[in-house]
Amino acid sequence: MLTGKPTAGQRSGVSTPCRQITQIWRASEACGRRRAAHSLVVLASEITPDMRASILSAMEFRGFGDELNRIQEPLAFLKHLVLHEAAHLVLPDGAGEPECDRWAFERLAGRFT
Ligand SMILES: [Zn+2]
Repeated sequence: MLTGKPTAGQRSGVSTPCRQITQIWRASEACGRRRAAHSLVVLASEITPDMRASILSAMEFRGFGDELNRIQEPLAFLKHLVLHEAAHLVLPDGAGEPECDRWAFERLAGRFT
């Protein structure tokens, strides 16, 4: 679990310092600095059906309802999850959850803009 409650930076999608992660409290987390050589994407050891449902629900709320059928298969869901966390590390400061979802869906489709 991340030590303490998520900070404002974590809630806005800014990556977490790796040393703060002692146990993951959600399905995935990016840690490190943006564009740093030693950043990590950390995944929960088990992604429960509730975690998955919560993630899909949040993406639908953010306007990606039409895209969700592309990540129904577990491997596609996992790929999107990792790409989404990578987006937190490579996109410019201020990129939020919708931008990270969009970036991940583009890469899943083979578009690298
Ligand atoms: Zn995110």
